[in-house]
Amino acid sequence: MAKSGDRCTFCGKTGKDVNLLITGVNGAICDACATQAYDIVQEDSKLKKKSQSGFDLAELPKPKEIKEFLDGYVVGQDEAKRYLSVAVYNHYKRLMQPLSSEDVEIEKSNIVMVGSTGTGKTLLARTIAKLLHVPFTIVDATVLTQAGYVGEDIESLLTRLLQVANYDVKAAEKGIVFIDEIDKIARKGDNPSITRDVSGEGVQQGLLKLLEGSVINVPPQGGRKHPDAPMIQVDTKNILFICGGAFDGIEKKIAQRLNTRSVGYSASNKNTQVDHSNLLKYIRPGDLKSFGLIPEIIGRLPILTYLNPLDRDTLSRILTEPKNSIIKQYIKLFEMDGVKLSFDENVFDYIVDKAIEYKLGARGLRSIVETIMMDDMFSMPSTEENELHITKEYAQKQLDKADLNSLQAE
Ligand code: ADP
Repeated sequence: MAKSGDRCTFCGKTGKDVNLLITGVNGAICDACATQAYDIVQEDSKLKKKSQSGFDLAELPKPKEIKEFLDGYVVGQDEAKRYLSVAVYNHYKRLMQPLSSEDVEIEKSNIVMVGSTGTGKTLLARTIAKLLHVPFTIVDATVLTQAGYVGEDIESLLTRLLQVANYDVKAAEKGIVFIDEIDKIARKGDNPSITRDVSGEGVQQGLLKLLEGSVINVPPQGGRKHPDAPMIQVDTKNILFICGGAFDGIEKKIAQRLNTRSVGYSASNKNTQVDHSNLLKYIRPGDLKSFGLIPEIIGRLPILTYLNPLDRDTLSRILTEPKNSIIKQYIKLFEMDGVKLSFDENVFDYIVDKAIEYKLGARGLRSIVETIMMDDMFSMPSTEENELHITKEYAQKQLDKADLNSLQAE
């Protein structure tokens, strides 16, 4: 207990001036200084935890928050969003594990997303990149070829990651790589030895090394331009790979599998109703194998998810809802010229109808809106007008002038 005359060793106040004075063998501490000391200890341990891995889990977005963020930019595709959110969060958790950890080692879970072109795979990847705390890059699998052939070596994929990490190898080794169009490196035929499959199985074998986790010699500027530059060693053990692909025609393989199965057990199970309009949701790793991915690659992409085809309602929401929807972008563009842009509701329906009629998908929405707005974009900035209202008749007139078929080639 404090005696009169005892003082806090830290602030010098006496027992009379403070609420509580705790005395030790050689000194004393008052309640205010003890509280302050506690805060300092807490802050310090937080910093230490952070410096071991570069992260503090408490500060990182949780899967639900990641998904909510994605919801702001990508319409629908809940299944893929959930998988991505969990994978990214788990990636952080793995990175926080001490290297010498003797307990359970968390293995990484690379992902593969299957969905028709234009359904939002790249958009998901780009959006998630905005929120990430690790280096992130998107690469296109179509440019990769087996070493020694025209195209880029597989290692170039890591060159990109190094570049976004400002050549900080440690940071790059914790990064995430999105490999787009992974389906384009599928084996072309059942017998790869007849023709040289330089952009198919050979690339898959090369990619496998990266997915498995090995130390790779990476040319700092992308190999072939500077063959003499010293290589940088990058360990891919902790790099998360997210792959995306349209896998055109894979529905047939899925349907075949489902049909074969229906002869057996599930045929007697009347409850199994197959949704033929969206076969992708039944995708299994075996279907990727039938499509031409080698089993070893499939084994290294343990999380398989899919994107839904865009129906009318989704297209309509894409047009107006996302934070940077095409309509919002145009309103902003005109606003910068002091013009208030507005649309009749039925203009949106009309645009969606046209996108469906000409099979333009979500990408086509932009082209259609651009076609409608082109004349005004050209003339409005030179006028004194401060309002512009678009009616369906006007939109129709503008589109009639243009050839929508020419947009299809995109
Ligand atoms: P993919 O990579 O699947 O071929 P993208 O992600 O490149 O398709 O999508 C093309 C464009 O279509 C995007 O830039 C976006 O404007 C729009 N889009 C596609 N799907 C969605 C979606 N689910 N939500 C919002 N916009 C979308």
